[in-house]
Amino acid sequence: MIKDESVEKIIDESQQGSTLTLENNHKNTRKLYIESYGCQMNFSDSEIVASILAKEGFNTTQILDEADLVLVNTCSIREKAEQTVRKRLEKFNAVKKTNPGMKVGVLGCMAERLKSKFLEEEKIVDMVVGPDAYKDLPNLIQEIDEGRNAVNVILSKDETYGDVAPVRLNSNGVTAFVSITRGCDNMCTFCVVPFTRGRERSRDPQSILQEVNELWEKGFKEITLLGQNVDSYLWYGGGLKKDYEKASDMQKATSVNFAKLLELVAEAQPKMRIRFSTSNPQDMTLDVIEAMAKYENICNYIHLPVQSGSNRILKAMNRLHTREEYFELIDNIKKIIPDCAISQDMITGFPTETEEDHQDTLSLMEYVKYDFGFMFAYSERPGTLAERKMEDDVPEAIKKRRLTEIIELQQKHSHYRTQQHLGKTEEVLIEGTSKKSDAHWMGRNSQNTVVVFPKEHYNIGDFVNVKINECTSATLIGEAVGYSKNN
Ligand code: SAM
Repeated sequence: MIKDESVEKIIDESQQGSTLTLENNHKNTRKLYIESYGCQMNFSDSEIVASILAKEGFNTTQILDEADLVLVNTCSIREKAEQTVRKRLEKFNAVKKTNPGMKVGVLGCMAERLKSKFLEEEKIVDMVVGPDAYKDLPNLIQEIDEGRNAVNVILSKDETYGDVAPVRLNSNGVTAFVSITRGCDNMCTFCVVPFTRGRERSRDPQSILQEVNELWEKGFKEITLLGQNVDSYLWYGGGLKKDYEKASDMQKATSVNFAKLLELVAEAQPKMRIRFSTSNPQDMTLDVIEAMAKYENICNYIHLPVQSGSNRILKAMNRLHTREEYFELIDNIKKIIPDCAISQDMITGFPTETEEDHQDTLSLMEYVKYDFGFMFAYSERPGTLAERKMEDDVPEAIKKRRLTEIIELQQKHSHYRTQQHLGKTEEVLIEGTSKKSDAHWMGRNSQNTVVVFPKEHYNIGDFVNVKINECTSATLIGEAVGYSKNN
């Protein structure tokens, strides 16, 4: 996986396992230590959990030894993610020996699959809570306080946590994530998400707008609308996406799709930058691209995972589009928004993948020339369709070699893309100090590329016009020429 400052918003490896803390309430007497793994949805969920537990008498801490309750928000997407969490649970169990009052709970995607193993066989945790059961935490904690194990992994038809105001943990005060859908209905054959996070449901647009407005009032300048498949967003009064067919005519007439939601958010806060992630090619429609073009505050950047360039593999993955349809979508994006940045997720070594399929992936990448990407070797996940129906038959060494090849090609394309910015003056939102230099700010342009420039008199949260003078494959380097009109 290419790792740089510019892609950290989606999966930040340096954030994996980080503890989240928020302002303490002096009336709270117990201490919560919460660690998060996986995608941004998980980090966003930890903010919901911390918010629920703040009302139950818990302040957050970063010191493991002083915690009364340790929670691990887990990820199942690849085997490696699960192994990392297992190692952490062993560590917590060791700490428990010296601090017997401490309780340990597992949250998130590993909960359903491993609940009996963790609670009954290995006895390494006291509590297991699935991603739709966080509102039950007060009851579950009471159970463990009384000495019993507690478990709730029930997946919900309508839980969206729309009524829980998330606390912002470890925030830069400028950018925030706003969850708009939960679960996923796509049933990609490699993917565990539909099993761990349940069926797809959308959050009430009014509660989304309220959260966005509150963020603006608190000084935030950029939001990312989050979901496994945001383009599939559909609000018709509540309920699962798959049950939309059964909705009344009135519900259908007043329903809100993703393009409409984008417009509502863009108009509610015209100076707030708006991003979204993740888009699935099969669900991304022209009206979304047109909404992006119509509103200046919607950023020109789309994360558009494709996974493979081979039609045969796309079919085996149950990605419901062809390579040609994907090209048509890319052409439409570039026609309507010529400077739109596009990033990818790609998997090498899916069962039966041949050298010819791999060459198709490389040629697809050549066609699109993505701005950046997240690339992975296939990891068989228990319970998925691929695990049940297909043999994991591509040797590890071949998966890795193909992965290296696509990463190298992506690096070349990333450099090609950053070079296109040279000499231009672009609006940058300042997010913080550059990781490499205290004298420089770090921010992003509309295309989500990281820009660094000397600090001068500018401040975090300012919108600044920056002239781009140099670039690496991941970063643009420039100098500020004044505040932008958005400031
Ligand atoms: N919902 C998005 C989609 O369908 O494109 C992203 C889902 S997932 C959280 C993020 C990425 O992890 C996927 O796009 C895929 O590239 C990768 N991934 C998912 N399952 C995987 C597996 N079994 N092995 C390797 N990579 C996987």
